[in-house]
Amino acid sequence: MPKVVQYRDKCIGCAICAEMQPALWRMSRKDGKATLIGALQKKKVFIIPINAGLLEATEAVARACPVNIIKLQ
Ligand code: SF4
Repeated sequence: MPKVVQYRDKCIGCAICAEMQPALWRMSRKDGKATLIGALQKKKVFIIPINAGLLEATEAVARACPVNIIKLQ
């Protein structure tokens, strides 16, 4: 299963991910960064497996992130 990885500490809070894919991302009211919904935290990195059906849309989000902190594995 593919995994989405977010290097959250480098998020600049532009909200593009949350606008493009609200099922997976929402903006935190606490720190203004994007939260990868349901993800597990490993140190500063957040990781969640996704269905293959979400892959294409998530790749588009990863490409759109201006600081390139969303990766697919
Ligand atoms: S697109 Fe990237 S920088 Fe913008 S809110 Fe999402 S994770 Fe943060």
